[in-house]
Amino acid sequence: MSVSPRHGVATSTVPHHIGGVRVAGDGLRSAPLFNPATGQQSGNVPLADAATVGRAVAAAQAAFPVWSETPPLKRARILNRFREIVEANRAELARAITLEHGKTFDDALGEVARGIEVIEFACGAPHLLKGQFTDQIGGGIDNWSMRQPLGVVAGITPFNFPAMVPMWMFPVALACGNTFVLKPSERDPSASVLLADWFAQAGLPAGVFNVVHGDKAAVDALLAHPDVQALSFVGSTPIAEYIYSEGTRRGKRVQALGGAKNHLIAMPDASPAQVADALMGAAYGSAGERCMAISVAVAVGSIGDVLVEELQQRIVTLKVGSGLDDGIDMGPLVTAAHRDKVTGYIERGVEEGARLVVDGRQHASCSEEGYFVGATLFDHVTPEMTIYREEIFGPVLAIVRVPDFASAVELVNAHEFANGVALYTSDGGTARAFARSIKVGMVGINVPLPVPMAWHSFGGWKRSLFGDHHAYGEEGVRFYTRYKSIMQRWPSSIAKGAEFTMPVAN
Ligand code: NAD
Repeated sequence: MSVSPRHGVATSTVPHHIGGVRVAGDGLRSAPLFNPATGQQSGNVPLADAATVGRAVAAAQAAFPVWSETPPLKRARILNRFREIVEANRAELARAITLEHGKTFDDALGEVARGIEVIEFACGAPHLLKGQFTDQIGGGIDNWSMRQPLGVVAGITPFNFPAMVPMWMFPVALACGNTFVLKPSERDPSASVLLADWFAQAGLPAGVFNVVHGDKAAVDALLAHPDVQALSFVGSTPIAEYIYSEGTRRGKRVQALGGAKNHLIAMPDASPAQVADALMGAAYGSAGERCMAISVAVAVGSIGDVLVEELQQRIVTLKVGSGLDDGIDMGPLVTAAHRDKVTGYIERGVEEGARLVVDGRQHASCSEEGYFVGATLFDHVTPEMTIYREEIFGPVLAIVRVPDFASAVELVNAHEFANGVALYTSDGGTARAFARSIKVGMVGINVPLPVPMAWHSFGGWKRSLFGDHHAYGEEGVRFYTRYKSIMQRWPSSIAKGAEFTMPVAN
C-alpha cells in the first residue's frame, strides 16, 4: 500500500484498484517512482501482467449489466457526489500530482479544476443521452434514435496530466453507461488511485471504475482482451499509432491522441509585450510538458528582434524550483531520462546552427539533485532543424522568422503535428483568414493555450489524433455510445400484403 488517503504521498508500493477496492500487485514486476524535485525514490508501482488486467476487465464486465441499465439520472447523481468529493479534496490530489510529476502545486490545482469541469459536463447525462424523435414519418409510423453504451472501455493515459486526462475520459464513459478500466502512466500513478477511492466513497458500484498500473505488457493485454470494446489513448504519436492500428485491427473503437508541436504566430501589429507574456506561460508553464505548450514562435516581419528582447528580460526573472515551494513558476522535468533527452535536443539545436539565446542547461537549478532544466530560447530556427520538427516536451522555445502572414500559415500547415496553434494580432480580417485556413484542430486568436471547455471537444488533426472523434464534450458522448435508429408502427397502420419496393415516406 502506498498512497495515504490523508496525505497523498507515495511511500511504498501504489496499489491497483479493482472491483471497488485497492489490490496489491502480484510482486512479479514493478517500477520505481521518483520525486522529480529531489531525485529521490518515493515508492514503486506494480506493472500488471495479462492476468491482472484480465481481473480488472472481468470486474468491469460483471458490473456492466446493472450499470448500463441504471437510469442516466441516477448515474449522474453518483458522478455529482464524486465531483463534490474531488472538489473537497483537490489540494490532496494536487499535492500527489506535484510529488510525482513535478509541476507546481498551483498548476496541479489548475489541472484538477479542468478535470472537474468534465465531470460537471457528464452530470448532464440525461440530457446528453436524449435521442431524436420524428412523429409520423409515414402513415402511422414513427422513427426515433437512441445512444447505447459500448460495454467495457479502457483509458491509457500519459504522465503529463495524471488527473485531468483520465478525467477527459471516464466521466463521459461512465455517464453513458459504460464500465471503465484505466491504465495511467506508470510515472505518476497515485492520482488515479485517489480518484478510484473517491468513486467508492461516492457510492459507485464495485467494478464500474478500475485502475491497473503497468507498461506495454498491460496495454497489450487491454488491446488483446475480447471484452474491451473501445480504447481511449493519450500519449506520444508512435504509441498512439500503434494503439490505433492494433485496436482497430481487432475491431475495437479507438481514439488515440498523440504528440504536438504548437506554433504561436506573432504578427507585426501585435503587442510584443503581450506576445512575450503569452509565450512565457505557454512555453515554460509545466516545464513545457503540455501537449498544448507553445514550442515554436513564428515572428512575422519586424516583430522578431523586439520579441526576443522582451522574452530575454522575462526569462531572467522566471523562478525555477520545487513545485511545492511558494512563488515557483516552473518545476523540474518528470524523470532523469526525460531531462537528458531535453538537454540532448538543446545540444542538437546548437549543432544544427540555431542561435542559442538563453541556455537552460546553465540555470542554477541544474546543479541541484532534481531533474531541472531552465527556460531555453533559440532564435533563427529553420524548418529543417530537428528542434523544429520533433516534439521536445520540455522548456525549449524556438523562434522561426518569416516575412509575412502567408509564409507563417504555410509553415504551420506543413508540419506533421496539428494539435494547437495561436495567432496574435489586432487585425480582425487576418484573424478570420487564419481561423479558416489553418489546418490545426484547436485554434487560439490572442489566446495562447486554446484548450476547449468541457462542453466543446479536445483534439488535434493529422498526426496529433488517430480516430474519428475528439475527446470529451459531445464528441466524447458519440465515441462512448452506439447510435441506434428505431422505426415503429402498430397493427392498425400495417398495409395489407407483402411490399417489394424500397419503402419511401408518402
Ligand atoms: P507515452 O506515449 O510514453 O505514454 C503514454 C501511455 O502509453 C502510458 O500509459 C504508457 O504506459 C503507455 N506506453 C508507453 N510505451 C508503450 C508501448 N511501447 N506500448 C504500449 N503502451 C505504451 O507518453 P508520455 O511520455 O506519458 O506523455 C507525453 C506525450 O503525450 C507527449 O507526446 C504529449 O504530446 C502527449 N500528449 C498528448 C495529448 C493530446 O491531447 N494530444 C495530451 C497529453 C499528452
